[in-house]
Amino acid sequence: MTIGLVKNLVNGEFVDARSGTTLDVSDPATNGEIIGQVPAMGPEDLDEVFRAAVEGAKTWKATGHLERGRILLHTASLIREHAEELIATIVTEMGKTRAEATGEVGKSAEFFEYYGGLARLPFGEYLPDARPGTFASQIREPIGVVLLITPWNDPLLTPARKLAPALLAGNAVVLKPASETPIIALKLAEILHEAGLPAGVLGTVTGRGADIGQKLTSHQGLRAVSFTGSTEIGIQLQKELAGTGIRVQTEMGGKNAAVVLEDADLDAAIPTIIAGAFAQAGQRCTATSRLIVQRSVETEVRSKLVAAMAGLKVASGSTPGASLGPVVSKKAQQQIQAHISTAVGQGAEIIATTPLGEEQRQTGAFVEPTLLGISPDLDIWRDEVFGPVLAMTVVDTVEEAINAVNDSAYGLSSAVFTKDLGQAFAFINSVDTGQVSVNQPTTGWDIHHPFGGFKDSGSPFKEQGLEALGFYTRIKTAAIRTQ
Ligand code: NAP
Repeated sequence: MTIGLVKNLVNGEFVDARSGTTLDVSDPATNGEIIGQVPAMGPEDLDEVFRAAVEGAKTWKATGHLERGRILLHTASLIREHAEELIATIVTEMGKTRAEATGEVGKSAEFFEYYGGLARLPFGEYLPDARPGTFASQIREPIGVVLLITPWNDPLLTPARKLAPALLAGNAVVLKPASETPIIALKLAEILHEAGLPAGVLGTVTGRGADIGQKLTSHQGLRAVSFTGSTEIGIQLQKELAGTGIRVQTEMGGKNAAVVLEDADLDAAIPTIIAGAFAQAGQRCTATSRLIVQRSVETEVRSKLVAAMAGLKVASGSTPGASLGPVVSKKAQQQIQAHISTAVGQGAEIIATTPLGEEQRQTGAFVEPTLLGISPDLDIWRDEVFGPVLAMTVVDTVEEAINAVNDSAYGLSSAVFTKDLGQAFAFINSVDTGQVSVNQPTTGWDIHHPFGGFKDSGSPFKEQGLEALGFYTRIKTAAIRTQ
């Protein structure tokens, strides 16, 4: 699939970078085949983007919730209308399987449906006031211009998850997608434009974060930044923005653990764990990357995992029946392989791999799904791999299992497999993760479930559901003397 040049949306027009330079985008299932280009914007392009956004924020606030909701609902229906093109773009640009990309497109439409439908929510409250003849209220209003910085692993879903609540709340948005997968984000901008979003309400900026990040986050008109990506860049942003009054929401890395207790239904647990660890080639912030097993069931868990991994099919995303596609790039492939080699060098046991076919060994950024047996003193117990690698360790008691889950700088998601309701509640109560499941994977949260991690995985602000509106709005308290 060749897509060609896709331009940025600035002030209602589709534009190139002033320098005329572009970034190449390649298909990770090939040996670097270029599928398209986007403008390589530099710092010199950004004043115009923010000038338009500051004006766009005024227009959009005045537009009112019901019309904003209508445009979001129209966006959702256009996403569904263009689903085939969007699915093919995600498969080609990012490497997901068709089934995964189909899920991503459907869920992205749901974000716009959900927040479009919330346009009739109350956005304020009446407040009693002791002063005679005085009517007081609190009004939830937009904050102005918000910057959204998104990663490559859910290249349509993450922009949709942030854009839909930001726009419903009445903010103008500057969207900076990842340079590995910018095309699909620009296609979403085209759809929002077609749905009737006024000029300036959305500006897109493609270009290397390292070159334009500083200028993006220091712009005078900016009121909030919602970032999803690595912990390294997220914490850098928190530090850069400290003391500026600009709100920062950071959804960052994870080292998510699933626990298998001895009473678990293993026939149900094992396929759930396999999907949580290896779907999307392990490139989900919520992917299961640590497995903690109670010793009495270790042998059975091992043999069932080995059998399940033999049934995985690693192939390009467009191959029918593929369980997982390539990782996003050759660079990511090398980094993941280096994590595996380091772990083995430090004493990890390779329990199982799913071997690649000859074609996948020769072509594309494929990585063998790998199950390692480790002890918690290895680097791979702590370091995020962001690939199809599951590291398993063994404990004796439930308490040890909970301590092992919490033995991480990250705190995004965790899961426990058990039939004991008491153990399940104790687990929910004790783990230090923002998302927690019982007999479900660490992945797979719905659009209205508040989403976000604790510790080095997140920030005080949750995304999704009604919680997201808290980040994108501010409360104004008003009192009117009527007599
Ligand atoms: P990344 O390298 O941190 O990049 C994320 C975004 O930040 C990209 O758009 C990137 O642009 C931009 N960026 C890079 N340097 C910047 C700077 N100095 N200033 C401003 N922006 C900058 O992360 P990634 O490799 O794309 O994504 C993988 C990471 O995301 C993993 O750690 C994963 O766990 C995390 N993630 C977390 C969640 C969650 O909800 N918690 C969800 C998904 C992914 P360029 O692409 O141009 O460099």
